[in-house]
Amino acid sequence: MDLRLSPEQAAARELARDFVDRDVVPYATEWDRAEQVDRGIVGKLGDLGFLGLTVPEEYGGSGGDHLTYCLIMEELGRGDSSVRGIVSVSLGLVAKSLGSYGTEQQKRDWLPRLCSGQALGCFGLTEPGTGSDAAGLVTRAEPEGTDWLITGQKTFITNGTWADVVLLFARTDGPGPRGITAFLVPTDSPGLTRREIHGKLGLRGQATAELTFDGVRVPDSARLGERGQGFRIAMSALDKGRMSVAAGCVGIASGALEASLRYAGEREQFGRPIAGYQLVQEMLADMAVETDAARLLAWRVADLIDRGERFGTEASMAKLFASEAAVRASNLAIQVFGGYGYIDEYPVSKYLRDARVMTLYEGTSQIQKLLIGRALTGVSAFSGDAGT
Ligand code: FAD
Repeated sequence: MDLRLSPEQAAARELARDFVDRDVVPYATEWDRAEQVDRGIVGKLGDLGFLGLTVPEEYGGSGGDHLTYCLIMEELGRGDSSVRGIVSVSLGLVAKSLGSYGTEQQKRDWLPRLCSGQALGCFGLTEPGTGSDAAGLVTRAEPEGTDWLITGQKTFITNGTWADVVLLFARTDGPGPRGITAFLVPTDSPGLTRREIHGKLGLRGQATAELTFDGVRVPDSARLGERGQGFRIAMSALDKGRMSVAAGCVGIASGALEASLRYAGEREQFGRPIAGYQLVQEMLADMAVETDAARLLAWRVADLIDRGERFGTEASMAKLFASEAAVRASNLAIQVFGGYGYIDEYPVSKYLRDARVMTLYEGTSQIQKLLIGRALTGVSAFSGDAGT
């Protein structure tokens, strides 16, 4: 399935496809088993311009539109969701927030390094006690002279042990969303410790961490946006982030479908390829329809962003559908593969394990439904607001 792409969009997709087939797919199982993606991948992503997509060139970005962004996230998701997540977080959540809310100095300080892969960013919103209810976060930033002193804990932070800067959300004022402020905290700040979280079901190659802030001092120039604007910054980052997750899920589903089609054509039972059996074709057809539907939902978000239109509800729809579709498609792929789908010599079991988190992070499926329901009815079914 393809809409008409511009020559630049088609070329960007080819570049990503070649990169994924050469530098990601052959190593994905090894990284998954080792619980660590080769760190050299970050420099390669930077060299190709993937960490600077849609960021203006004057700040070291590689420009491009959001459809191009989706095409590249889809390819990375097909290759390894751990790699896709590195980009989605450092670029999609951190660099793009900096581009929208940063001062000129903050942009000059961080964007060229983030876009080149010389530095990585992570997004610190979730805490042990607050996930979906992100507006209830309790990490505090107290003013001291012209500085801020930060104390608290963040958990499940993607890129956490690799990142050079945390886009951190902390409470500076009263309860609720308006009491939250965003800060750019260098990860070598005294008082900041990081612990990698092991034993994940999927995304095993990705550095997911717990961050502890024990009186971490930052100057007021580290504040991103206005005091009290942090929750708005977080939510606007997540709206675009959901498009990125949706596109990555399309990559999982299409990868699962491609692998299933290949296998079903080769595997023979009862004297002929299993692809010829109607019940196998039903599984393949279901995967194909859902993959295309998810792709179109993600591309609609990209189109809305590029046209400067509102896109939050459409992003929730895309993320909800694509994440659930990726789980269903990768689960069906295991069925097509039979017993061979259950071992990691083939890619499909990893697709399912990686897909599973997509219905959880950047707002669970339940939270997406509440956001869509609120947009439809004008009535909020939850207090506070939606989390990551
Ligand atoms: P809870 O919020 O405790 O939810 C538990 C269950 O209750 C879910 O089914 C949820 O849908 C349901 N539920 C909660 N509230 C409601 C409601 N009002 N109505 C109906 N159902 C409800 N966070 C970051 O800040 N930065 C990151 O980089 C990041 N990366 C992550 C990477 C991984 C691998 C994982 C697993 C998580 C990551 N997260 C990150 C955290 C993630 O965003 C949260 O796990 C997610 O928001 C859900 O929060 P929770 O785990 O606390 O679950």
